[in-house]
Amino acid sequence: MLSTFFVNICVIITFMYLSGIIAKFYSIRLPFPSLRVQMIGGLLFGLYGTVLMNYSFHINDSTIVDLRHLAIVTAAVYLGGLASVISGFIIAILRILMFGITSSAIDAAFIMILLGLSGVYFAYASWSRLSKIITMNLLGMSMIFVVLLMNTDSMSTLMRVYPIQMTIAFIGGIFIYFIAEFINRSNEMLFVLERRASTDHLTDLSNRRQFEQSLRAELQHARHYHQKLSLLAIDIDRFKKINDTYGHSAGDAVLKQLGQLLVEHARSTDLVSRHGGEEFAILLLDCGYHQSITIAESVRKAVARSLFTLPDGQTVKLTVSIGVAVYPDHCDDHEDNDLYDQADRALYEAKNTGRNRVCSLPPYNTIVAEDDW
Ligand code: GH3
Ligand code: MG
Ligand code: MG
Repeated sequence: MLSTFFVNICVIITFMYLSGIIAKFYSIRLPFPSLRVQMIGGLLFGLYGTVLMNYSFHINDSTIVDLRHLAIVTAAVYLGGLASVISGFIIAILRILMFGITSSAIDAAFIMILLGLSGVYFAYASWSRLSKIITMNLLGMSMIFVVLLMNTDSMSTLMRVYPIQMTIAFIGGIFIYFIAEFINRSNEMLFVLERRASTDHLTDLSNRRQFEQSLRAELQHARHYHQKLSLLAIDIDRFKKINDTYGHSAGDAVLKQLGQLLVEHARSTDLVSRHGGEEFAILLLDCGYHQSITIAESVRKAVARSLFTLPDGQTVKLTVSIGVAVYPDHCDDHEDNDLYDQADRALYEAKNTGRNRVCSLPPYNTIVAEDDW
């Protein structure tokens, strides 16, 4: 009997670990995931509970005991009310399908549904997750006791089995709590690290690393679908003067506001990033030369019109220079970095010809033909 419950605990912990990997893979966060994730999670935990029934201890021909209710408790506390209800129904239905329609099977199915429904309350109660697990686990065990009392033909067997089941279920619930919290914490840390690795901390835009990844992916997409892809390389004019005059934190405030302005002027599908310092880039998806020049001009004008507020309430004006390059017009089709290099060259041209302007280079074939343009 002890080994039956031990196997139950091992099975549920293994399934929780697998669920943690799935949650990490699909970036599922607590509390609480979307209804779709709750539905899938409820289904999985319903199946986990059903597997536990295969390792049950038989009290008599039709009465079995195991820790299947812990699958519902875990679904309620870690996935939400819908997951709890679904897992309860699945365990109930499969209990009847697997072990036949007997009065004890119907009673057992009924309490699994009841426990699943009660999970809606526990899921959204404002208690700690440990209190929810302990209370819902005790509620489940109490319901199980009533059903066992109604269906047992040997009180002595029941009195021998139930205290052991109760103790192991209680310890199991605590185990589940610590393991689920550990999985949740390590997933959270991974999400934070992944986000930090791809985001610029000051502006919250994509950083250069993320930009390079996106550029490679979008170039591949553009090649495959014969689309155009444009890149705006943007650099603030004489930014050093703002830092020197108003201080570094004033410069940071300007960088943040400029990042926001670029997002507002890009289309929702475009990718805005900061490459460190006062250099930004916008990747314009499915966007040809004329449209990219129009967008670049509108960004340049919007920046020149805007007032940027410093931490002390003062406002400053600034301008940007923008270099535009378009795939495939301006770059070597076989070089992923070439689009960026060409936009950077166009930016250099904009700086050299007076700043506060948009420049692009002649098309790629012309560059090759006239190397000294
Ligand atoms: P140009 O018109 O030629 O681009 O002139 P510039 O002054 O903008 O260019 P330069 O590259 O000489 O100066 C860039 C300045 O950006 C230098 C540096 O102090 C500042 N900078 C770089 N990163 C940060 C940052 O994270 N915060 C702030 N406040 N300033 C930064
Ligand atoms: Mg610069
Ligand atoms: Mg600059």
